[in-house]
Amino acid sequence: MNTDDFAEWSARAAQWGAEYRATLRDHPVRPRLAPGQTYRAIPAHPPETPEAMEQIFADFEGIIAPGMTHWQHPRFFAYFPANAAPVSVVAEYLVSAMAAQCMLWQTSPAATELETRMMEWLRDAIGLPDTFEGVIQDSASSATLAAVLVMRERALGWTGNTAGLRAGPQLRIYCSDQVHTSVDRAIWISGIGADNLVKIPSTGPRHSMDAAALDAAIRADIAAGLKPAGVIGCTGGTSIGGCDDLTAVIRVAKAHDLYTHIDAAWAGSAMICPEFRTLWAGVEGADSVVFNPHKWLGAQFDCSAHFLRTPSDLVRTLAIQPEYLKTHGADGIINYSEWSVPLGRRFRALKLWFLLRAHGLDGLREMIRNHVRWSVALCEKLRATDGIEIVTEPMLSLFTFRPTGADDATTQALIEAINADGRIYLTQTRVDGALVIRFQAGAFDMQAEDAEVAYDVICELARQQGA
Ligand SMILES: *Cc1c(COP(=O)(O)O)cnc(C)c1O
Repeated sequence: MNTDDFAEWSARAAQWGAEYRATLRDHPVRPRLAPGQTYRAIPAHPPETPEAMEQIFADFEGIIAPGMTHWQHPRFFAYFPANAAPVSVVAEYLVSAMAAQCMLWQTSPAATELETRMMEWLRDAIGLPDTFEGVIQDSASSATLAAVLVMRERALGWTGNTAGLRAGPQLRIYCSDQVHTSVDRAIWISGIGADNLVKIPSTGPRHSMDAAALDAAIRADIAAGLKPAGVIGCTGGTSIGGCDDLTAVIRVAKAHDLYTHIDAAWAGSAMICPEFRTLWAGVEGADSVVFNPHKWLGAQFDCSAHFLRTPSDLVRTLAIQPEYLKTHGADGIINYSEWSVPLGRRFRALKLWFLLRAHGLDGLREMIRNHVRWSVALCEKLRATDGIEIVTEPMLSLFTFRPTGADDATTQALIEAINADGRIYLTQTRVDGALVIRFQAGAFDMQAEDAEVAYDVICELARQQGA
C-alpha cells in the first residue's frame, strides 16, 4: 500500500466508523447469525496474489460487520460495558499509525511519560491518595495476577521465582465469594492452587465478605501451619455488584501483615464521582487497586489502571533485570515492562489523554450519574410492574430481576426471547443458585429513551411469555 492509498483507505475507514456509530440504533445489538456462518463465508486458503482493497473492504462490510455484536450500541445492557468513546478511537488510530513498542523508556519516551502523568490524573480523579503510583496493564486479569505474584513472593521471602513453591510453606489467599473468575485464574497460574483460595461467604445488602469470618479463617490456617499471603477485596463484583467493607477487610489483613489487592474493574470508573466513594471507603489502606477505564469510562479496550502503594514490590517480583533497583525510578526513567507480566506493551496512555481532555471529568461524571439514575429508575418501574420481581438491588447501575417466582427454565426463556428480539441485550447470572437476569446501564451513547425501550421490551416479552 503506497502513501496515497494509505491516506485514502484510512479516510474510508474513518468515514465508515462514523456512519457505523451514528446508525447503531437501527441494528439489533446482537447479530442474527448461525454458528459457522462467518467461517464458511471465508475462503479456506489465503490468496497467492494481491487482492484489490475495494474487494477487501467490501468483504469487511458484507461479511464481518453484520456478524458482530455491537458493544458500542446504546442499548447494550449485557455483561459490563467496553466503552470506546469516539475520541479514544481517534487516539487509537494515531497509536496504530505509529505502532510503537512501549516496553522501555528508551523505546517510547513520550508514551512512558504520558503514562506516568495519566496514572496521576486518574489516581487523583478517583480520589486515591498520592502515595499510589500507577501503571496501565492490558487487563484487570493481568493486574490481579501481578498482585497475586507479589503476594506469593512477599510471603515466601522473595524466593518463589527461583526455588519454586515446593520448598516453601503452603500459601493461602482470601477473598469473598463474589470475586471475578480472574482471581481464580491468578491463583491457578501463580501455582498457589485453587484449593488454597479461601472464599469467605458474602453477607448483607452489599454482598460483602464477613470480616470476622475472614479473621477466623486466617487464624485457623496459621494454627494449622499454613501461610496466609494476601487478601483480595472486591468493589463492584461482576455478578451482582458485591462490595466488600474495605476498611474492615484491610484492618484484618494488616493485623496479619497480609498484602491487599482490590478489584474494582467495573466500579472504579464511578469513583470519579465523590458520592460513590462510600462503596470503597477504606481503599486508601490497600497495597494494590485495579480498575478498567476500558469498561465504563470510555477508553477503548485495552486499558486497565493498576495502582500500587509500593511499586518496588511489583518490580522486585517481575523485573528480569537484576539491577532493577538501579533503573527503577533512577534518572527519572521508568521501564513499565518491569511492572507487568508481558514484555511488549502497547501505547495505551494516548487514548486516556484524549478522552479526559475532550470530555473533562465533569462530562464523564455526568455520563456515569445518568447511567446510575436511569438504571435505578428502571428498577423502580420494574418493581412496580406485575409479573416482575427485583432480586438484587441496584449497585451503581447494576441490578437483577426475573419473572415473579420463576423457575430457571422460565427465566431462561425470557432472556432468550429478549435477546432474540434484538432491541436490547441482557445477560444472566445466579443468585443463591437461581437464574436471574442482569441489567446494567453503561453504554457511552445511552440516553434516557434507551432505558424506556428496555422497559417496554422486558414487559412486552414477559407478558407474551405469561400468556
Ligand atoms: C471485567 C472484570 C474483570 C476482568 O477484566 P479484564 O480486564 O477483562 O481482565 C475482573 N474483575 C471484575 C470485577 C470485572 O468486572
